[in-house]
Amino acid sequence: MTRRRWIAEHWDEATATLVGPQAEHLVRVLRAQPGMEADVVAGGHVFHAQVAAVAANEVRFNLISELDADPALPITLVVSVFKFDHMEWGIEKATELGVAAIAPVIARRTEKHLAQAADKRVERWRRIAHEAAKQSRRSDVPLIHDPVPLAQRVRTASDATRIVLAEQERSTTLRTIVQEAVEAAQNQMPTLELAFGPEGGWAPEEEALFDANGWRAASLGPRILRAETAAIAALSVVASFLE
Ligand code: SAM
Repeated sequence: MTRRRWIAEHWDEATATLVGPQAEHLVRVLRAQPGMEADVVAGGHVFHAQVAAVAANEVRFNLISELDADPALPITLVVSVFKFDHMEWGIEKATELGVAAIAPVIARRTEKHLAQAADKRVERWRRIAHEAAKQSRRSDVPLIHDPVPLAQRVRTASDATRIVLAEQERSTTLRTIVQEAVEAAQNQMPTLELAFGPEGGWAPEEEALFDANGWRAASLGPRILRAETAAIAALSVVASFLE
């Protein structure tokens, strides 16, 4: 039987503790009792665990044994903020597909009201990633960065292979660039950053900024995809190399 998986807020080498909504659900809905077994994620590791103590909004587990865990894909999605419901669907799916981090950025064509509301929305994106990580039985939760202006992210130094998904790109496919990166890393997992534009696409000066900072433009084929579809398609291409 598959045990439920929880993501601990606090842990040490022998115990892990849930507090807040997870603990309340365990206590009030699942009627947690000492001895109840589950899988608990603590510090990026997964453990077979047993409930040791239950309080109104806190459940403490004893860690029994460590389980095999699938590491996240070494991929950061740089996502231009776009319609929140579509973006949040994308965050959920990208978490299920194993992304390590998501960096929201404000691009030139990001709608003004979304750009202004993004800072207040980021905690909700973190909750969505947390729930999706639990549901997909990950051994970690992807990092959701605070939203920043696109230029700041593009100019930030990084050892990753940096790829901008560009709807106008016609010659170089994402597959080609990832294949080269895997070969350059002697078939190790290359760290990747993948950037996606808003609904209105990239502005010409943004494409020039990417180029000037060493990002490579990649195509996902002749059709224009919604940003969330492009992110899922790109993750699937990369995962086909790495998993
Ligand atoms: N408004 C733009 C247009 O009509 O050309 C489309 C922008 S698209 C909705 C949003 C983002 O998804 C693009 O900036 C790009 O990052 C990505 N994207 C969509 N289709 C793509 C493709 N065929 N190849 C590469 N990237 C694509």
